[in-house]
Amino acid sequence: MPQRARQDDEAFNQSPPFADVNLFASDRALGEAVTREGASWARTGLEAFGALTGSARALELGRLANACPPRLESFDAQGRRIDEVEFHPAYHQVMAISTAQGLHCSTFEHLKSGEQPKRGAHVARCAGSYMAAQMEPGHCCPITMTHAVVASLMHEPELARRWLPKIIVRDYDPSQQPAEAKRAVTFGMGMTERQGGSDVRANTTRAEPVAGAGSGKLYRIAGQKWFLSAPMSDLFLVLAQAKGGLSCFLLPRLRGDGSLNGFRLLRLKDKLGNRSNASSEVEFEDAEGVLVGEEGRGIATIIDMVTFTRLDCAVSSAGLMRQALARAIHHAGYRCVFQKKLIDQPLMAQVLADMALDVEAATALSFRLARAFDGGEDDGEAAYRRLMTPVTKYWVCKTAPALVGEAMECMGGNGYVEEGGFPLLYREVPVNAIWEGSGNVMCLDVLRVLEKEPETVERVVADLADAARGDARLRPAVENVRSLVADCAREQRAARSLVERLAVLAAGTLLLEHAPKAISDSFLATRLAGGWRHTYGATSGRADTRAILARAAPSLG
Ligand SMILES: Cc1cc2nc3c(=O)[nH]c(=O)nc-3n(C[C@H](O)[C@H](O)[C@H](O)COP(=O)(O)OP(=O)(O)OC[C@H]3O[C@@H](n4cnc5c(N)ncnc54)[C@H](O)[C@@H]3O)c2cc1C
Repeated sequence: MPQRARQDDEAFNQSPPFADVNLFASDRALGEAVTREGASWARTGLEAFGALTGSARALELGRLANACPPRLESFDAQGRRIDEVEFHPAYHQVMAISTAQGLHCSTFEHLKSGEQPKRGAHVARCAGSYMAAQMEPGHCCPITMTHAVVASLMHEPELARRWLPKIIVRDYDPSQQPAEAKRAVTFGMGMTERQGGSDVRANTTRAEPVAGAGSGKLYRIAGQKWFLSAPMSDLFLVLAQAKGGLSCFLLPRLRGDGSLNGFRLLRLKDKLGNRSNASSEVEFEDAEGVLVGEEGRGIATIIDMVTFTRLDCAVSSAGLMRQALARAIHHAGYRCVFQKKLIDQPLMAQVLADMALDVEAATALSFRLARAFDGGEDDGEAAYRRLMTPVTKYWVCKTAPALVGEAMECMGGNGYVEEGGFPLLYREVPVNAIWEGSGNVMCLDVLRVLEKEPETVERVVADLADAARGDARLRPAVENVRSLVADCAREQRAARSLVERLAVLAAGTLLLEHAPKAISDSFLATRLAGGWRHTYGATSGRADTRAILARAAPSLG
């Protein structure tokens, strides 16, 4: 008799769903980074947040928010212009989860009480963001912008006094009301125009004063923005040309009477990934905005916001790398191929362990940078922040897409299928390299530091040289960086080499000092000694793959 075909519910040799995993407790590199970089006080809260963001329910919210992306509703039933974006309820739920954790404001909470900034506040917040990105990456865009805007608002004490109380509140209020009437507000940012995103000086949007020019005064703004994400935010920082040059303005989306403030959403971008987050093309027609900072100082004013968002790009990419690796290791621990679990196949173990090295490096670099943001006016930390923000953003965000692609392949065909979650990660991950300053722009920023503040570069390189002093593998890397600094003074095209070598050197010093020997030995042997081959697992080093994977393996609750 022919045997009955296996039924769906009898599937065997498949890994259990990746869910109910504590994204903090099961990530040793993250936990150690949080403690090392000054936020051990936050561990209990982070562990609870790790359980929440890695729960089956939260991961399902993340899936839904992307599977049912936002829709633009330009008109109401009677044909009146409304320019509203409708989101799936899951999007609002993930926003509520992240705002309740304070990811949009926690580092500024001391401003309310008049206390000193809490040591480790940026590190603790970044740990939350790293996990929130794994739950659902798209909503991190408005969360990041709302957090980052505080740095620019501080340029205008009156605006800070008015809006900070509605930012620094662990609440989320998506209601359609004038910003003044809301419990909590979110912020967006409008810099990019069709003519230029990297080169925003090419912007043509114009601003005319209503009754007298100057900081804090009202202007009318007209023009278009080619990318404006989170267009349902309550307020935006926008660049526009005033008489004195490119300037920064604060625009509410709705006027005090609830009418649209000259905003027309022309369309939503049909994006590769980042689908839960709406990104619009928008036209301003007589939109009213207040000048922030001085006329002509728009970039100088908004750059503080942008610097914060660059940190978040690195942290979020590190989180996505971790999520991809954890899912791949999880799968390889169950799936048997040729009578052996995948994880016990030496070639697969080599690939997974090699990826784990970059996840360790990305995590270590991102959280070291977060500590520099906690460092305030300290000279060494300020120098690290200035130089290593573009370096870290460049390296982590550029490493992530290749890693996520390789991790997807470890899952076999299941990796390519929507329900498994990998397509979401894979589509999402390139965006962090593109926005907030693409790769070359990060390199040009490093060249700017070289030219304008050579002492900053010397300070950071000297500190790295100190950390490398006792290690024969790291010392040549310091010399290599020094000679690339000299090359860059002569020719721009050496910049990518310098930025990459600086990132790898900084990661190497961190891993040497803090990671288990199996990790640091392999990282130094493969990433510094020139054996790196552009694909994972193709290195010649004899890594202790068992030790590396034992550390990286996630555990399901
Ligand atoms: C999903 C998404 C959401 C976005 N949301 C927003 C938003 O909310 N607000 C906003 O203002 N912008 C937003 N952007 C825009 C984004 O910041 C820009 O796309 C980005 O800054 C690049 O600008 P561009 O597209 O004009 O490209 P370009 O400036 O034309 O750059 C193209 C390429 O050239 C490189 N390049 C630029 N200058 C040089 C140079 N001198 N030498 C060598 N190479 C160079 C860049 O690195 C890049 O790779 C968003 C983009 C995306 C994809």
